[in-house]
This record gives sequence, C-alpha cells and structure tokens, in this order.
Amino acid sequence: MRDTAPNSWESRADAHSLYGFTDLPSIHARGAVVLTHGEGPYVVDVHGRRYLDANSGLWNMVAGFDHPGLIAAAKAQYDRFPGYHAFFGRMSDQTVMLSEKLVEVSPFDRGRVFYTNSGSEANDTMVKILWFLHGAEGKPERRKILTRWNGYHGVTVVSASMTGKPYNSVFGLPLPGFIHLTCPHYWREGRPGESEADFTRRMAQELEDVIAREGADTIAGFFAEPVMGAGGVIPPSAGYFQAIQPILKKHGIPLIADEVITGFGRTGHVWGSQTYDFTPDAIISSKNITAGFFPMGAVILGPELADRVQAAAEAIEEFPHGFTASGHPVGCAIALKAIEVVMNEGLLDNVRALTPRFEAGLRELARNPNIGEWRGKGLMGALEAVKDKATKTPFDSKLSVSERIANTCTDLGLICRPLGQAVVLCPPFIITEAQMDEMFDKLGQALTKVFAEVA
Ligand code: PMP
Repeated sequence: MRDTAPNSWESRADAHSLYGFTDLPSIHARGAVVLTHGEGPYVVDVHGRRYLDANSGLWNMVAGFDHPGLIAAAKAQYDRFPGYHAFFGRMSDQTVMLSEKLVEVSPFDRGRVFYTNSGSEANDTMVKILWFLHGAEGKPERRKILTRWNGYHGVTVVSASMTGKPYNSVFGLPLPGFIHLTCPHYWREGRPGESEADFTRRMAQELEDVIAREGADTIAGFFAEPVMGAGGVIPPSAGYFQAIQPILKKHGIPLIADEVITGFGRTGHVWGSQTYDFTPDAIISSKNITAGFFPMGAVILGPELADRVQAAAEAIEEFPHGFTASGHPVGCAIALKAIEVVMNEGLLDNVRALTPRFEAGLRELARNPNIGEWRGKGLMGALEAVKDKATKTPFDSKLSVSERIANTCTDLGLICRPLGQAVVLCPPFIITEAQMDEMFDKLGQALTKVFAEVA
C-alpha cells in the first residue's frame, strides 16, 4: 500500500508526473508502482516486491525484462556505433540488415521499410504515405481513412483519429475524414438470433455501404489490427478478413494490418495476418520488433505499394519524411537480435506450446458467473466481467470492476490490465507453465474477492 511520506517514491512520482492512461483516483489512493528492475517475466519495485507481469510491460517485453542476448546486442552496438539517422542517403549497416530481414520475414516476397520511433508514428507515416501516393497518382481527394470502433492505433493526432475510442473527444478528435466501422466482435455486437456467418456478412455489407456513401474515390486506406489489442483483445468474427478484403480490393483501397501487438509471434505465427490467413498491402510493426528493448516502429510496404510509392518518390526526387532516430543503429541491432530470439531461439515455439494451457486457464475462469466471455488468440487473452451472464449486462461503470480486479492482482503480485470491463492477459513469451499456473491462480483469487464485494 501507499507510502505517504513526502520523500517516498510514491509521493515523488505524484509530485512531478502528468500520469497518462492512469486512473487518477486509484493512483492517489494507492500510489504509483515504482520499479527498479526485472527478472525474467517478473518486475521488482522499490520496496523489493515482485510482480509477475502478465502484460509483458505494454504487450512488448516478450523476451522478459533481463534477456542477456538482447542486452549484449545493445551493448555491442553502443560500443560500435551508438547513434545515427537515415536521412540524405546515409544509414547504418544495421539499418540495411534489418530492412533485409524484415522483408525476408514478412509475408511479402519484396517490399520496402520505413522506420519510426513508435507505433503511433508508424501509423501516421503510413497515412502520409497513402496521401502522398494518391496525390502523386492524380487522386488527391483519396484522403479518408477507415478504421473500426475499439481499434487502437496510437495517440498522435492522426493515429488518435484512427483510434475508435470515445475518450479522444476530449482532444476534439477524430479529425474530419476518419471513419469508424462497427467492431467485429460477435459476442457483443451480434444481434439476437444472428449467426456468426451472418454477422460477418453484415460487417462486409456495412463496409460496402460506407464506401458507397463516401465514394471510393475519397478513401485512402483501411487499417485494422488482426486481433484488436487495446480495445480489449477482440479477435475478429470468423471469416471477417476474407469477407472484407475483396471489397477493399474491388475499390482500390489498400488494407493495412496494424501488427504493433500481433507482429512477431503473439498470436502463434510471426504475423497475426498469417494466423487469420490474409495478406495485407502493408504492415505496421512496433513493440515486439525490439522485444521492447528499444523504441522503434516500422512500416513494411508489400510489393505493389512499395513499387507505387517508390515511383511517386522518384517523380519528385524525394520522399519528404523522416524522424531523427529513424533506423537508429542500436534499435536495429536489437531488433535483429529480437527477431532471432523470437523466431530461432524458442520463443515462438513456446507461444504455440503454451497456448492450449493459456486457453484452458481462461476457459476455467470464464466458468465464473460474472465472466461473460473469454476470448483470445495465442498468448493474448481477456475475460469480460458482466453483472448478468445470460443478458451480457455489464456492471455499473462506477463500480470500476476491472480496475478493482487489476488492483487486487497487483496486491497479490500479478500485473494485469483493466480494459473497459475486461481484464487482459498477454504474458511474455518466455513464461513457463508454472508461472502460468501462478498467473491464473492469482487472477482467480482476485475475481472471487472482487465479485463477492460487488455482487
Ligand atoms: N497500434 C497498436 C495496435 C497498438 O497496440 C499501439 C500501442 N498500444 C499503437 C499502435 C501505438 O504504439 P505506440 O504506443 O508505440 O505509439
């Protein structure tokens, strides 16, 4: 619990932090958890308390918090060449090697890569690429961006406009021209008596209708996470991408997969789009790309977009865009190692091996009368709290049920995340079966305690 002494870590954190995405009443009562280091999938706070981080930091620390290979790769690159940019035709050798590697491990046989510092910037960059491309191809009115309610694409002005969350209205966002379609969450959005196949058909029809209403010639692109992450871990309804992709193709609208969470293994394949059996026109990557050991994002253009964008840039002799730290050599060296660790040193295998245990744990906890649904893919999952399971009625939001569950978990030494009325789990890929038992045991205790309080 909170140490209220003026010189405590909690008070010092409060004194100077503008907390982002933090429930302020709860942080005032409890104080921030101030961390000093990590051990495998655990993090340790200034009081020496250990927490199993079932959220992998923010989905990204997939190799845990002290992976020696990643630390060694970072140290070696800091010794060799600690920083450079990718402007004016100069870039580090690591940057060249990472671009080769990203195209090699992408679903594309050819492609081009552009680097950013974050997932938000990668989405912004992709929107600029589309606007640049359509303008260069004589279609400057193709500017509208289609996304889905509950989709999360970041916090910069454009990526926040893409994000389908009501909280962005406090910033006066979204900007005009950002259009949100229905979240393809069958359990919540399906109508009484509607089959999942019919629901998917309705989602596809809605897309057709929106394109007809807006005019295909005004639409720049469609962005979608293969599994929605920050929306509460929402896998698409069956056949969703197979239903929408032909419609987008017919109207010349690129499909961009935002794989910031699903990229590099989370759903059991390297890409979430592989898990859902579709090939997008471009991929947005971040987070796992460096296993969270360096801030980095990347836009990976598939062959068709790569050729068209390159031609557009050749025509004006430049693509006028870039960040100071785009293609940072330390980030690239770490990413090269992270890809090796995930793909060749057993992490992806572990995701696959432990997925049945993970699903069984979620399924077991979902027997609780106050859990309406368990959902997930690979090692990302969620439990949705409900007041009434039969009618799917949520709890009064004033009860802050999911926050209470997450806070109780924290007291028990487990970090998990409240998202709406769901509790989200996305453990590091290095998690063991015994640690997974610990995770479900602690979450189970928290559910029992909190549901008894609010029942
Ligand atoms: N896209 C998705 C799917 C994400 O989950 C996130 C971050 N949670 C972002 C984009 C934004 O990434 P960043 O926080 O690095 O800007």
